[in-house]
Amino acid sequence: MQQTTIAAIATAPVKSGLGVIRISGPEALRVAGRVFQCKNRDRKLADMPGHTVCYGVLSDRSGQLDDGVATVFRAPRSYTGEDVVEFSCHGGVYSLKKILAACFDAGAEPAMAGEFTKRAFLNGKLDLTEAEAVADLIEAEGERALKAALCQKDGALHKRVDRLADRLKMLCSHLAAVLDFPEEDVEQIDRQGLLTGTESCLQDLTALIATYHQSAPIRDGVTIAIVGKPNVGKSSLLNSLAGQDCAIVTDIAGTTRDVVSARMELSGLAVTLLDTAGIRETEDVIEAEGVRRSKAACDRADLILAVFDRSAPLDGEDELMLSELAGKENVLCILSKKDRPALCDKNRLKQAFHQVTEVSSVTGQGTGQLLEQLRERLRMEEFHPEDGMIANERQLASARQAADCCRRALEALEMGMTFDAVSVELEQALGALYTLSGKRASDSIIEDVFSRFCVGK
Ligand code: GDP
Repeated sequence: MQQTTIAAIATAPVKSGLGVIRISGPEALRVAGRVFQCKNRDRKLADMPGHTVCYGVLSDRSGQLDDGVATVFRAPRSYTGEDVVEFSCHGGVYSLKKILAACFDAGAEPAMAGEFTKRAFLNGKLDLTEAEAVADLIEAEGERALKAALCQKDGALHKRVDRLADRLKMLCSHLAAVLDFPEEDVEQIDRQGLLTGTESCLQDLTALIATYHQSAPIRDGVTIAIVGKPNVGKSSLLNSLAGQDCAIVTDIAGTTRDVVSARMELSGLAVTLLDTAGIRETEDVIEAEGVRRSKAACDRADLILAVFDRSAPLDGEDELMLSELAGKENVLCILSKKDRPALCDKNRLKQAFHQVTEVSSVTGQGTGQLLEQLRERLRMEEFHPEDGMIANERQLASARQAADCCRRALEALEMGMTFDAVSVELEQALGALYTLSGKRASDSIIEDVFSRFCVGK
């Protein structure tokens, strides 16, 4: 099929310093040459070698629209693997739209969402997991998410899956040989060899599948809920941790009726801090709803900061919270208002939570120590994204399917079933890995992957 030449604005549709328009396809240089005139009139885009740039003027039929730089990439050494021209212009929303319209007038077609990356995939520049990582890179909100996406984009999962697929392919070829020459007396050895080989593939697949859950904090971020009765200083603590005034702070009990959140980065992870209405008995209907939401926030939180007021004795409401949270692994006990005289029974809290951290949101005392404790809890030293990880549900489904097939192949081998039965399962496991990497993915899977992208990517 004759490939079209596509164009799109690659930068966000907001006023900014620079804007980029990307053109890709067999006619990219010709289309760009109709819109862009090199300042040095002796130079023509069509004659420029790949990886070179030129300053010039962008115009449509009515006249000049902007000035900027054109970068030329020649197939196959470009992002898409096709001829590509990128215009770096001023980042005006209107002017970029006009330049894009001029590109269409010159013969380009509007690019669909993710079409540049899809072409890169179809031209063999990326496998499907690397293409997905491009979207993850754009979405990344913390250092670890960024690092993980970069590793994946550079082929960490691709290589891991390829290595597994190669081993499965060897087992399949071995089986094919045995099936083709059944008269050879090698059954015993083959069965044992196949068992060991399949077991080892299954082990590696299981480890690969586990990376999906291990990497959840990187992918989804971490939620920390701050709970405690009204007025103990939850909102103040949230503000002092997040370093900004994002929760309402007053001394009227029950002010925080809804869950207020703030975002921050800790240990390279995107953290959402939730300031809750507190867990208490209340007659007030609206506040009761707040309490219900607090409980729900605690249930879904990865970590809970249980706050008690150091400057007041523990009361029935504190005891209620103690009984709800004591002994839970993911709870850190905080004694607030460290700058005030101590009236609270710290030993009672120590019995329930082992460790108690005293902080003052007014003077900042203890907040550094608390942040360090949180960083410690969120550390993920055992996790290495450079080894490749399962990054989304699509990849997970394929990896699970491959593991299920290996499991069934093992059962067939152990039950002494025919090699045909084993072969069918191992071939299917291999097919699932090819779906994962995109080597043999269906059109609908490919469409689905690229529909996540924005236009221009
Ligand atoms: P919340 O209802 O638990 O969210 O409590 P707030 O953060 O709204 O604080 C209740 C009151 O305690 C406010 O008057 C705060 O200024 C005060 N407060 C909060 N933290 C501290 C602290 O560390 N030291 C002192 N002295 N007062 C605090």
